[in-house]
Amino acid sequence: MSATIIDGFQIAADVRAKVAAKTAELKTKGVTPCLAVILVGENPASVSYVTGKEKALAEVGMADRSIRLPESTSEAELLKVIDELNDDSTVHGILVQLPLPKHINEDKVIMAIKPEKDVDGFHPVNVGNLMIGRKAFLPCTPHGIIVLLETMGINTNGAHAVVVGRSNIVGKPVSILLTRRETNATVTICHTGTKDLASFTKQADILIAAVGKPNTITADMIKPGATVIDVGVNRIPDSTKKSGFRLVGDVDFEPAKEVASFITPVPKGVGPMTIAMLMQNVLEAAENTL
Ligand code: NAP
Repeated sequence: MSATIIDGFQIAADVRAKVAAKTAELKTKGVTPCLAVILVGENPASVSYVTGKEKALAEVGMADRSIRLPESTSEAELLKVIDELNDDSTVHGILVQLPLPKHINEDKVIMAIKPEKDVDGFHPVNVGNLMIGRKAFLPCTPHGIIVLLETMGINTNGAHAVVVGRSNIVGKPVSILLTRRETNATVTICHTGTKDLASFTKQADILIAAVGKPNTITADMIKPGATVIDVGVNRIPDSTKKSGFRLVGDVDFEPAKEVASFITPVPKGVGPMTIAMLMQNVLEAAENTL
C-alpha cells in the first residue's frame, strides 16, 4: 500500500491560522509583532525564501521590516544595521537570510543578533539552551519536523530515528529535539563519514534526510512501514517549467512512497513548516516583551 503523504502545506496553514489569531489578540494589547528580514545580495533561492517569509508575515497580520542590501555591503555595515535593529523596541525578531556573500563572516553576524530577537534560533545562547532543555527559540525547520510528526500522530517514543546530515540548522538540532524526554526517540546521526549509509537508514522507524543531494535515499534504503521526512530542497533543470527548474528532495520520492507508511513531499512538505514555525517564534518574541 502506498504511503500517506504528509500534507505540510495544510499543517503549516493551520499553524499560521493559530498564530494569526494570537497576533490579533496581542495587537489589542498594543503590541504588533514585527520581524526584520535582512537579505544581502540577490541569490535567487534566498530571494524566493525571503519573499515567502514576507508573504507569511502579511498573512498573519505581523509587521514586516524588510531590509535589502546590495551584495557589496561590508560586514561592518551589516553589523551596524543589526545593532540598530537590536536597539529598536518595535522590532521583535531579526533574521539574516543565509548564505551571506563570502566576504561576510556568518558566525559574527549570528553572534551579533540579540538572543531574545534571534527567531531563527541560531545564536549560541539559544542553541545551548536547546541542548540543556531550557526555554529557547527552537530552530524553525527542526521544530517544523517535530510538529509534522506530532500532528500526524507518529509515535516517536522508543522509535529509532536516523538523521542523515549533521548541519547546525537541521541535522544536529532535529537530533536533539528527537532525544528530548517528550519525544523520547533513539537517534543515530549519519554524515559523509558514515560507512554503509543504507545499513543505518534501513533500521529507521523515522528517517530524516537533510543532505542537499537528490536521490541520496532510494527505496531499498528504507525499512518497510517507516516514516520518511525529506528536508532536501534541490533545483533540477527542467525545460518544461517556466522557471527552467523543478524542486526535488533528497529522497527518490515515487519508489520510496511504495515502501514507507508516511512520507513528506517536496515541495509542500517540510518547507512550509519552516516559515510557519518562524511566525510562531516572532509571536513568542513579541509576547516576551509584555
Ligand atoms: P548542509 O549544511 O550542506 O549539510 C548537509 C549534511 O549532509 C552534511 O552534514 C553532510 O555531511 C551530509 N551529507 C552530504 N552528503 C552525504 C552523503 N552522501 N551521505 C551522508 N551524509 C551526507 O545542508 P543543510 O543546511 O542541513 O540542508 C540540507 C538540505 O535541506 C538542503 O537541500 C537544504 O536546501 C534543505 N533545507 C530545507 C529547509 C526547508 O525548510 N525545507 C530548511 C533548511 C535546509 P558532512 O557534515 O560530513 O559534510
